[in-house]
Amino acid sequence: MTAAAKQIDSNAPYWDADLETQSRAEWDAMKLALLKEHVRHAYEGSPYYRKSFDEAGVHPDQIKSLDDIRRFPFIDKKVLRDRQMAVPPFGDLVAVPERDIVYISASSGSTGVPTASPFTQRDFDEWMDFEARLFWASGMRPEDRYAHSLNFSLFVGGPCVLGAQKLGALTIHAGTLPSERLLTILKQFQATAMWTTPSYAWYLGETAIKEGLDLKSDLAIKRIFVAGEPGGSIPETRNRIEKLWGASVYDYYGLSDIFGACAGMCEHKNGLHWAEDHILVEVLDLETGEPVKEGERGEMVLTTLKKSARPMIRFRTGDIVTFTSEPCSCGRTSQRLMGVNGRVDDMLIIKGVNIFPSDVEAIARQDPALTGEYKLVVERINHLDQLTVEVEVAHGHNGPTEEVAARFGKHLKSVTGVSAKVVVHPADTLPRATHKAKRVEDRRQGVWS
Ligand SMILES: [Zn+2]
Repeated sequence: MTAAAKQIDSNAPYWDADLETQSRAEWDAMKLALLKEHVRHAYEGSPYYRKSFDEAGVHPDQIKSLDDIRRFPFIDKKVLRDRQMAVPPFGDLVAVPERDIVYISASSGSTGVPTASPFTQRDFDEWMDFEARLFWASGMRPEDRYAHSLNFSLFVGGPCVLGAQKLGALTIHAGTLPSERLLTILKQFQATAMWTTPSYAWYLGETAIKEGLDLKSDLAIKRIFVAGEPGGSIPETRNRIEKLWGASVYDYYGLSDIFGACAGMCEHKNGLHWAEDHILVEVLDLETGEPVKEGERGEMVLTTLKKSARPMIRFRTGDIVTFTSEPCSCGRTSQRLMGVNGRVDDMLIIKGVNIFPSDVEAIARQDPALTGEYKLVVERINHLDQLTVEVEVAHGHNGPTEEVAARFGKHLKSVTGVSAKVVVHPADTLPRATHKAKRVEDRRQGVWS
């Protein structure tokens, strides 16, 4: 990539062809240069990494290829939390003086202790550049009116609105308002785009209809960005939301410990373009820890390439994903996240078979006789795992529910290999999720996951 070849269209400031259409070899060379520098920065700046690398007998100088990252030790959410407790307030993975930190997001884990994700001003600015690039790839333009309907309170998704603002869109910092109020705002300002969770997009659409609004003529929403649940990566879920709203749905993926959206769909909607110049991805087999073949499911392990405040070297996300590095039909060549199939902790093992709630969701959303809402109950009866799937018939469906249940059970068995008892409820029986949906009740442990 030469300076002379680098041309950024001033009418398309967030479409950088030289970066986004470079060859695989160019991507890898770029990442390797960033990786060497970043791991060195972690080693020199963070007491935790220095000790951890020394103990593992590894050194930044040993990085000669991208694969060499595999010599380095993992970190996970527990390490972040424990180190933050041991060295308050931000932990000793931080690699810059505190005076350089200008922003933190925080997420609360199961223990309720908020873990902070710190940013320097440069980290923050680079993050917003990436968000602007993602929004541009999804078709957002300065003419759009964009309602950001995510939580602003410490949540890493909150500041992503500034990426849209940077792109030049009119931004409505809506936050998590009551649905009626949000609908009033979308109508009043004729917002053309919004970002929320998939289950909330569905709920909001249903609420609007109940209130007598016509989603296609009273409101002007043309693009809905979704994130925060596996549902967004399931085509059937997106299709249903698209039909309901008469809008295009783009799935985004973010991580509270790294940054807001790390990947998002372009207008071709075939996978999520990854922030490849910011984050190195490994997809590892759950049992062997070896990299899986491209396109196979495995746990996603991430290494930041630029985020200087708190480098993340080999962070085990617990997300089960698939990736491709085939170029996209849009012309971009960045790696694409093809699916988030669930969390390592959401994965249910039923009669020895791995099953993800997202597998069930895809089936529930495909059948027009169903509303698409679902709940999974797993219990152990006579020492045997029993899966019950509860679904609802769609409004206006008149046929016998036994047929619907039988069809669902057969489909589920063919996709997952697991037999389930299927209970078909009338429409509007199952609890509606407003934000992160909780749809799995594992009675074997007596907890909701
Ligand atoms: Zn694309």
